[in-house]
Formats: sequence, structure tokens, C-alpha cells
Amino acid sequence: MTLDRERLIELDRSVVWHAFTQMAEYEPLIIERADGCVLVDIDGREYIDGVSSLWCNIHGHRHPRLDEAVRRQLDRVAHVTSLGCSNPTTIELAARLVEIAPAGLNHVFFSDDGATAVEVALKMAFQYWRQCSRPRPEKTCYVALGDAYHGDTLGAVSVGGVERFHAMFEPLLFPSLRLPAPKAGPGACLATADESCREHLDRLEKVFAEHHHRIAAMIIEPLMQCAAGMVRHPPGYLRGVRELTRRYEILLIADEVAVGFGRTGKMFACEHENVAPDLMCLAKGITAGYLPLAATLTTDEVYSAFLGRYEESKTFFHGHTYGGNPLGAAVALANLDLFESEQTVAKIQPRIAQLADRLMGVERLEHVGSVRQCGLIAGVELMLDPAAGIPFPWEQRVGGRVCDAVRRHGVWLRPLGNVIVIMPPLCISADQLDRVVDAIEVGISESVHQICSRE
Ligand SMILES: *Cc1c(COP(=O)(O)O)cnc(C)c1O
Repeated sequence: MTLDRERLIELDRSVVWHAFTQMAEYEPLIIERADGCVLVDIDGREYIDGVSSLWCNIHGHRHPRLDEAVRRQLDRVAHVTSLGCSNPTTIELAARLVEIAPAGLNHVFFSDDGATAVEVALKMAFQYWRQCSRPRPEKTCYVALGDAYHGDTLGAVSVGGVERFHAMFEPLLFPSLRLPAPKAGPGACLATADESCREHLDRLEKVFAEHHHRIAAMIIEPLMQCAAGMVRHPPGYLRGVRELTRRYEILLIADEVAVGFGRTGKMFACEHENVAPDLMCLAKGITAGYLPLAATLTTDEVYSAFLGRYEESKTFFHGHTYGGNPLGAAVALANLDLFESEQTVAKIQPRIAQLADRLMGVERLEHVGSVRQCGLIAGVELMLDPAAGIPFPWEQRVGGRVCDAVRRHGVWLRPLGNVIVIMPPLCISADQLDRVVDAIEVGISESVHQICSRE
């Protein structure tokens, strides 16, 4: 069946229900093919993929080595269950992940996306305290940061705190202890960042001191809370959280779903502060943006609490049909090979510097409140009155309108409210990165002027 253009658009509007999209106002954008960092729609129009097809593409689309890895696996087997069964590709991936992960994360539980990797971590932490050598079954609560986003399933939403996404589901959620996120702030001098860091760690310690007996784990998105609107933590905060969670016997869950796989300028964000969490969640970039696959890594200490005779019921009763799928594992392995052979992390350092340089220009634009960057992740916050700290009302959909304008200049972006997100594939060229920022500059001046003069 080949559908013509009009029929595709009609069906996309009426039958497909898109994620995080008001369908009554949806304007179809139908991507037919892609190559490297460029997406091509059904009308042949080209767009630079400025947000890595939602933060997951690493080496570009249709990379010959990644395509080949999927094809080769297809010649063996497309799917093998992980319920009491295995396959060579998935085993090899587990071993490779342990090799590159922060020290001590020696066991890998596979699932299929970021939210499930988080659910797994939360449930593992809970069950761990019931079965560890000195059981502490009263430890059932989680600590999370304000505006945190850890996925859209109910457990992940319970530790999330993005008001616009999560408030509606409040009656369905379990309670968590939430602390405001520390903010490094735009251009904050080191002294202010230091102060903010200490203040937030003191606050965290107070919560731990009072409640540690009932806290199972703290979950954190290291360095940069992405979906929160690109909230950058001050240096030293993650390190401090690791020390406090150790001191108060609280497991630390690092959600590296967005920041993992090179995006912050190191393979994993935890490496910047030399931190090894007790549980680490990986997804998005794990397959270089090819297939759904996720992993929750943990320590010998956590893993061993689940060992015992069958009748002891210490088993982790959790699984997903496609967890550890061999096609996903094959492309994930090829992804890791490319990180090595192409020296991806070293190669992006000049792009990170280039982005920082260009963002200084963006920060000077009218209605830009602040600019926040961590590696090849950046957020540009638009404000009605930056000097007075007055935001644009969210109802005006200013971020969305700027991205519509940016799209007319050949760059595809998806904003977070009034924050324009820049998160390109790590293989983006210097020229393409310039074109992304150029389009944003033009898009901001075009659309913000229009909005301010009309409303
Ligand atoms: C995207 C994201 C998730 C959820 O991942 P999905 O694959 O969309 O379920 C979880 N945590 C963080 C930090 C994310 O950015």
C-alpha cells in the first residue's frame, strides 16, 4: 500500500495520536527519509535535525556501520526473550556497558526505554531494602529534585516534578520528597555557584537527617536536568549528593537517559564529578537513536540481595517483552564501536566550544532571558522582560512559535515551553551547527517581534 501525500497528511491528523501534541492543532510534519544530520520530509524539504530526533541520535541517520549492524543481526535472529533466556549479542552488550560505566556497576538489567529503565531502578531500590543483609523494609520513599523529569509511566511520574505534565495525574502517584533543584544560573560567577551548591547540599542533608530511615533512594539527572527546561546544576553538587547519600545509607539513582553517551562532553555525566551511583539508567543514545533499548546498571551489593533459592522469592519479578532485544543490542554495540573508532567524545570538544561561543551572541538578543549549556546540550530561555525576570505566559506558545519560524529556515527543533532546545547529533559539522544557531537567531527576531507587537 502506498499512500499519496494528501492521504498521508489526512491520516496523520485523524488516526495517529502524537505524543505531547494537541491533536486539534497539529500540523503534520512527515519525515520520509534522513541522511547524517539532515531530515527530508515528504515534499523533499530538508531540515537539520537540531534535537537529534528527540535527544537520541548520535552518529547521524543512516550511518553505514549502524545500518549494517542491524542487517547482520537480522540474518541471525530478530528477537530472543530475556525471560530466562539469552543471546550472544545482548550478552556482549552487557559486558561492554559494564566496561565503560562508572566503577562498580557490574550488572545490567535490560528494558526498552527511558521510563522503564527508571521504573526498574525504583523497584530494585525498594526491593533491595527488603532483602539486603540487614533489611530495612521501612525505607520505601524516594527523594527527587524539583522540575525533575524521569519519564511518563506512573512510577517515573511520581518522582517527576514538571507541573505542566504531572499535576493532572497527582491522585495516581505515590508521594516523594522533593527538593528545589540547584541552579548554576546564567553566567553565575564561581562564588555564587559555590554558594548555591553548599546551600542546596545543606538543605538536602537536613532532609536526609530527618527522613533517612524511610528513604530508599534519591534519583537525580546528573549535571543538567534536561526536560526541566535545561537546568544546570552548580559544579560539585553531584559529588556532594553522592557523599550525603553514602553517609545516610540512601541509594543513588543516576538517570543518564538524556545526558549519557557523550552529550555532556564525557561518555557519562557522572564522570565529570568522578561519581559512581548505585543504579544508573541508560536509554535514548544507547542505540545511537536507532531502536528502543534501555538498561539499568547496578552494583554487586544490590544484585546480590536478589540472590537466593527459588522458594525464598528474592527474584526481581519484573520484565518487558522486548527487553534486551538483539537488534537493539546489535546497533548499541556498533554505536560503542563508533565511539571508539571515530573518537566521538574527543571530536565533539571543538563543537562544544563553538556552541558556547555562538550562544554568547544569542544571549545578547532581545527577549533572551538566559542561555544554559552543558556539552552539546543547550537551552535558550525566552522571556517577555528578561531584566525584570518576567516570563512569556506559556499560553502564548512562544517557544513553539520560534521553532515554527526556525523550521522555515531549514532547522527542526522542539522546544520545552519557552526554552529553545539545541541538542544535535554528536556528528554535527561546524557548518551545520552554525546554521542551527543562525536559524535560531533569525527565528527569535522574526517571531518574538511579531508576538510582542500583536499581543
Ligand atoms: C527522555 C527521558 C526519560 C524517558 O525516556 P523514554 O525513552 O522517553 O521513556 C527519562 N529520563 C530522562 C532524563 C529523559 O530525558
